[in-house]
Amino acid sequence: MACETGWLRRLIRDVPDFPEPGIVFKDIAPLLGDVDAFRFCVDALADRFEGTTIDHIVGIESRGFLFAAPLAYRFGAGLIPMRKPGKLPGPIEYDEYTLEYGTDRLEIQQGAVTPGSQVLIVDDILATGGTAAAAARLVERLGGDVVGLAFLAELTFLGGAARLEGREIVSLLTY
Ligand code: AMP
Repeated sequence: MACETGWLRRLIRDVPDFPEPGIVFKDIAPLLGDVDAFRFCVDALADRFEGTTIDHIVGIESRGFLFAAPLAYRFGAGLIPMRKPGKLPGPIEYDEYTLEYGTDRLEIQQGAVTPGSQVLIVDDILATGGTAAAAARLVERLGGDVVGLAFLAELTFLGGAARLEGREIVSLLTY
């Protein structure tokens, strides 16, 4: 169930034609800068996974880190950064994927996820789902179990959830 709270939506700014023509960028900076809103969002995401065993939280670079870190703190879980190419010292595993704007790849350090680890994947926006699907594949390739994926917001018109079919998805806001 999505949270339809208008006060949060007003703190996410639509920026047309950024970073490319035709893309409406969701600027979450006003929400991050609002103490009550940021705290509410972190707590609301955590509440949705209360009772779930979570050993590791994977944050997707870069805005995913902002939510992954406080969630890891709250759950007493290890924090794992999943990063864009060339940022992590090896050995690494990687997966390539398509974005709403362009293609990219994600990297994770080998051994970051231990076999059998229960992993929650966190990012700010679920758009086409390519990023999140790649993240889930990477976690599973390292032997982890993806217990769910948590997003601040989901752009449902881009159909990302279909690429994550069968997985537990929580999006606080939907567009
Ligand atoms: P996707 O792989 O298409 O689901 O894209 C998700 C990733 O791209 C997330 O890490 C988002 O931060 C970023 N992203 C995609 N579309 C947008 C958008 N319209 N506004 C802000 N960030 C976006």
